[in-house]
Amino acid sequence: METICNAINGAVSASASSRTQPVFNPATGEQSSVLPLSTAAELDDAVKAAKAAFPEWRDMPPLKRARYMFKFRELLDKHADDIARAISKEHGKTHADALGEVSRGTEVVEFACGIPNLLKGEFSRNVGPAIDSHADRQPLGVVAGITPFNFPAMVPLWMYPMAIACGNTFILKPSERDPSAPMLVYDLFREAGFPDGILNVVHGDKEVVDAILDHPDIKAVSFVGSTPIAEYVYTRGTAAGKRVQALGGAKNHMVVMPDADIDKAADALMGAGYGSAGERCMAISVAVPVGEETADKLVTALKPKVESLRIGPATDADADMGPLVTKQHQEKVLGYIDEGVREGAELVVDGRGFSLQGYENGYFVGGTLFDRVTTDMKIYKEEIFGPVLSVVRANSYDEAVGMIDKHEYGNGTAIFTRNGDAARDFADRIEVGMVGVNVPIPVPVAYHSFGGWKRSLFGDHSIYGPEGVRFYTRLKTVTARWPDDLHEGAVFTFPSMK
Ligand code: NAD
Repeated sequence: METICNAINGAVSASASSRTQPVFNPATGEQSSVLPLSTAAELDDAVKAAKAAFPEWRDMPPLKRARYMFKFRELLDKHADDIARAISKEHGKTHADALGEVSRGTEVVEFACGIPNLLKGEFSRNVGPAIDSHADRQPLGVVAGITPFNFPAMVPLWMYPMAIACGNTFILKPSERDPSAPMLVYDLFREAGFPDGILNVVHGDKEVVDAILDHPDIKAVSFVGSTPIAEYVYTRGTAAGKRVQALGGAKNHMVVMPDADIDKAADALMGAGYGSAGERCMAISVAVPVGEETADKLVTALKPKVESLRIGPATDADADMGPLVTKQHQEKVLGYIDEGVREGAELVVDGRGFSLQGYENGYFVGGTLFDRVTTDMKIYKEEIFGPVLSVVRANSYDEAVGMIDKHEYGNGTAIFTRNGDAARDFADRIEVGMVGVNVPIPVPVAYHSFGGWKRSLFGDHSIYGPEGVRFYTRLKTVTARWPDDLHEGAVFTFPSMK
């Protein structure tokens, strides 16, 4: 059985750790590889390598760093199909969806290719008599990223291309559940010619995460995952003096106004609710139709679509969605459906008991639709992260907005309407970081930045795009006067232009 390796200082080799974890193919339930859970000492080796590589990398002209990125981008594009297959094998998402993931990750590399322009500073001549001032952003040093299972290629690419283009060196701790895709991308990164130690990959669990959070030579941590762990990473990392951005979970609502085209809204909900089996932090998990009539029409339109969802392994080119990532996660999602029934929600389509011939041991859950969900129910309050869509009926637009604002999460949201006033008001005042107007999954493109509000993001910076440059650099401002112009004698007053 294949053992997943670490990559430290350019060497790809197995961890010496005695602790391991199996990696599964979620479509079949078969184990596909063994993942060693690395030790804190191995993380320290990676930090030493990254620290040693930093000075030369920092001092390299940004244009040269960008040239590596251009090569990396070409290789990602050339091998997109292989990366997508590696994703699907351990995550379970369909091939087309995995290709989309690779493409969105590659776009961040494309943005990072523009780093010379992004790092251009500011200059002010004559801030005082013959005094000039310039400000620019400098890299931090060794930085780290801890990533979730649901985008094993894309989320790491949200982080290290930006960090490395800015002149930092990087340590990646991928998800334990699907570690092969990030390793394949690592191989391409090396093929692009990046020197040793610039990117290091250390696999593991809490032991490595804690070692990252406590390590004095790691200056910043990017985290993407569930909210309890995001909060933990933020609290422990900042207590150790690090800069931390920790993106957490979500419960994304889509408001359907009475004037919306119901069929189009239902189609949008299908893709956003069930694509990738609902395992997306930007998935819509709550539909909020405004008014009883809108709700009736929406549920009527959704029911047959959910019933006819095509579910299959990634090798089925016609599948709409695949299995869940692990057996434990499958059980958790099934538990939520049981809980929804117990709480009194109306189960319109029941995905429990779904089984696929030839894949009976796969972690599949059928598309599930609940109606008449209320805001006090657990299935409303908590993130399910599965193919389960809840309809919460609102009597008015204001009630819909109030419900979203009160929810602990504020990652993404959308409104479907033909009314410009309502759309503008919604985008303006909703307490959520990413808003779609007739766009169900408003993931910002690579040259904007991604980030939620409330308990969906801990820290001050969103990820990638211009915010990525700010997160991975710090501002330095230089005020300069040349000796010929220096006055004689000490000046004890605060300098001003008076
Ligand atoms: P997770 O929180 O279980 O794991 C994320 C990372 O944290 C992994 O690398 C894991 O090894 C590590 N980790 C897990 N438990 C830990 C612990 N006790 N101590 C230290 N480290 C620990 O998340 P997941 O299940 O892999 O991913 C799904 C979650 O990620 C969902 O909640 C989803 O909404 C969220 N997510 C958010 C975004 C976003 O941009 N906001 C994007 C993708 C996923």
